[in-house]
This record gives sequence, C-alpha cells and structure tokens, in this order.
Amino acid sequence: MDNQTVCGRFAPTPSGRMHLGNAFAALLAWLDVRSVGGRLVLRIEDLDTSRCSAEKAAQVLADMRWLGLDWDEGGLLNGELNSDYRQSRRTGHYQQAFAKLAAKGLIYPCFCSRAERMAANAPHREDGAVVYDGRCRKLSAEEQAGLAAEGCKPAWRIQTPDEVISLTDCNLGYFAQNLAADCGDFILRRSDGVFAYQLAVVVDDMAMGVNRVVRGKDLLTSTPQQIWLHRLLGGDPPQYCHVPLLLAEDGKRLAKRDKALDLGEISSRHTAAEVVGLLAWWAGLLTEPVPITAAELAADFEWRRVAKQDIVAKLPANWL
Ligand code: GLU
Repeated sequence: MDNQTVCGRFAPTPSGRMHLGNAFAALLAWLDVRSVGGRLVLRIEDLDTSRCSAEKAAQVLADMRWLGLDWDEGGLLNGELNSDYRQSRRTGHYQQAFAKLAAKGLIYPCFCSRAERMAANAPHREDGAVVYDGRCRKLSAEEQAGLAAEGCKPAWRIQTPDEVISLTDCNLGYFAQNLAADCGDFILRRSDGVFAYQLAVVVDDMAMGVNRVVRGKDLLTSTPQQIWLHRLLGGDPPQYCHVPLLLAEDGKRLAKRDKALDLGEISSRHTAAEVVGLLAWWAGLLTEPVPITAAELAADFEWRRVAKQDIVAKLPANWL
C-alpha cells in the first residue's frame, strides 16, 4: 500500500476520563499511522447518549492533545464537536446501511428480553456473553405481528452464515471464527432505535476511508463479524491490529473505576513525555520507562516489537 493512502483512526467512547489503557491503544494507533506518514481520523463513538456527553468528549480530545497525539480529520470544528464524525449525529448513514442489509433479507426482529438486547451496547464475547440461539428467527409473520400488537418493541438482528471468517492481525496473527457457531445472529439495532456499535463502526470506517484499525484486544472477537459486514456493504475491510490490554493489579482489565490511572490524576503529577515513556515501555518499545515523545517513538516503530500479552499496569516505584 502506498503510504499516502494509509488512514487510521482514534475512536474513543467518551463515557469518562481517559485512563492509561485508552492512552496505550491511542499511542499505538498514532504510531502505526504516523510512522509511515499516514492520516488519522478522530471519531467520537457516543452512540450511548446516556453515558456519553460533549463535555466528556472534549476532555478526551484535550487528553489526547496533552499526550502529543494529533489527528487530521474529525474532532472539533469551530470549537464544537464536528457532527460528521460523531456517531450520535450519523444515524442517517446507519439507517441506509441497515436498509441495504434488510433488502438482502438478512435482518429479523428479535423480541427477546431486554437484558439480551442491551448486549448491543458493548462489544462482548470474552466477558462470557452467550451466543444467541436464533430463536426469534423462527417466528412466523403472525407470531411477529402478535408480539408487536402486544406492544413488544423488537431489536433487529442479522442472520449470520455458517462461514469461517479469518484475518491476519498485524500484531496477533491469525484469528478465525465461524460466524454462526462462534458469534451467532447479532444485534444491528436496539429496540429503542439506537444502532449497534458493530454496524456503526463498519459504516463509519468505510465512509471515512479508514484502512488501519488499531484497538484493544477485547475487540478481536468482534472483528470477524465486522469484516463480514464490510463485505456485505461492498467495502474492503481494513487491516486490523489488536493491542494487549492493560490490567489492574488484580488482573482485571483497567477501567474507568481505576481512578489512580486516569489521565486527570496522572497528568497532575507527571509530564506527557513521562506518560508516553511509561506506555512505550509497557508496549515493549523501550527497555525502561524514560521520558520520550510520541514523535520520537515514531522514528523506529515496528509491530514486531509490540507486546502480544496483556500487561499488568504496575507503576514504577518512583511514580507512586
Ligand atoms: N469506541 C470503542 C472504545 O472506545 C473502540 C471501538 C473500535 O475501536 O472499534 O473502546
């Protein structure tokens, strides 16, 4: 691929302050693209408007800038979030893609419980989510009409084929899933009308010309279904690069609850170069956590050197 055409993205969900795990994935996304002179898009993934806000998004953008991670498209426009790059403002695009898939006869209403429907909200799998058994696919038109008449509002699922979709991840190598068996029919639109992450992310990556996706390893299991959606919608799937997760000392994935490792706390005590150095050391790009800028790291960035295993985010003794 010609370096000019490389286009990566940051796709933060602004549901709280960025933590070191988010910063870790963002740094690697930036290095992946900037080390070859490519472009970066910044898209705000605020489909869940109950958890996300413009204020939180502005804070995420400020944290990225503080880290020295810049982008070329999206983010702010005249001081406001650019709505062309904000998922909560892109419903029309998702609607069109949904209609295209519906025209292929692949979508059906699902009247299963709310708990199941809410799974549309977040990427899943390794957290123990079950594969949907497809029971609503078997409902007759009369049964569907009856449930709708009772006031049940369906979510909308896509029927997955008995097909293996594989990829070669640039960090983790080969990965494959049989969509019907390992993933099952998944939700494209929730019963409250909100389009699911799986659809939005594919539509947006296609529309924005993204051809490199660097993100946390928790999303590896969503990737075969996203590749399949790309193909159904007539797009070329991007190259995926999944990065290890940062874990808290109890072995659980770093989350918003780990206040001590959020950028508010960290940036009040450390410089951006110290934080970037720490993240690069965890990533395997430095032999010790010394201050460095993202631009300095870009000079000799290579995926070969990036860690494959999850990392316990233990702060060096002089950081505490
Ligand atoms: N919005 C997701 C997050 O903040 C990332 C989704 C993606 O990279 O595909 O974790």
